Amino acid sequence: METEGYFADAETDFKEARFVIFGIPYDKTASFRRGAKEAPSSIREASWNFETYNMKTGLDFRDIPVHDFGDISTSNNDSPVEMINKVKDLSNKVVVEGKTPVGIGGEHTITIGITSTLPSDTMVISFDAHLDFRDKYQGEPYSHACVMRRLADHITADNIVVIGVRSAEKRELLEAKREGLRYYDAFTIFNKGLNWVLEELMEEITGRKIYLTIDIDVVDPAYAPGTGTPEPFGLKPIEVLMFIERIAPWIIGFDLVEVCPPFDNGETSILAARLIRSTIEMIWLKRKD
Ligand code: MN
Ligand code: MN
Repeated sequence: METEGYFADAETDFKEARFVIFGIPYDKTASFRRGAKEAPSSIREASWNFETYNMKTGLDFRDIPVHDFGDISTSNNDSPVEMINKVKDLSNKVVVEGKTPVGIGGEHTITIGITSTLPSDTMVISFDAHLDFRDKYQGEPYSHACVMRRLADHITADNIVVIGVRSAEKRELLEAKREGLRYYDAFTIFNKGLNWVLEELMEEITGRKIYLTIDIDVVDPAYAPGTGTPEPFGLKPIEVLMFIERIAPWIIGFDLVEVCPPFDNGETSILAARLIRSTIEMIWLKRKD
């Protein structure tokens, strides 16, 4: 396969770009399957699969000013806090210039770095099979299993909504309820539909600053087997896409995390690349500035 080592069609200079893609090759706190650190390069490679024109959005990706910064220089030799600080440094440069950060994990912990540079009244929408609301996991407060809890240190828990969850610890759930974290489980979504979730949230979302984080394990493992902690009974990819389309006008940044290439046959990276391309396009299409 002929690929160029950068995200397909992201050929704008940093200075001119309105979206900045960066990879974070880090999976030190992975608890079940390692390999998410390989995802940024795997997703970049997969991004060359697509036509530059997208039938869904009617846009040509080459017409959008997107820069691929490459990977942040981190590795599993860094502690989670060191990695998070590096993500924070770059994300800050992006956000200060009014550009939209697009993070490619790596493990979910990277989200803490990006969101720490956003205003504290930002609303976070997390697509995830897991609640990620433990205070510590395996003794580590900066673990992939604690992401929403750490986000809640900066953006209060009542500004966070987790969608598609179907796995949590009993104590974690109780603490989430106590702190005011909202979540929609996959079983209720199956019965009522993601549109029902949208109707519940739309008034609140409208006009807000939204940060979107997509943990790819929210999607059913039949569609996205290449992930660190797969959990059956997940969402369909197209449901996630159509939801993102509705909230796109208010998204100020997003990330996609937890793709694990060693356990993938290629389809998970393809889905990740498509979701990233489409999300950028849907934000661009609806932005009124
Ligand atoms: Mn997660
Ligand atoms: Mn997860």
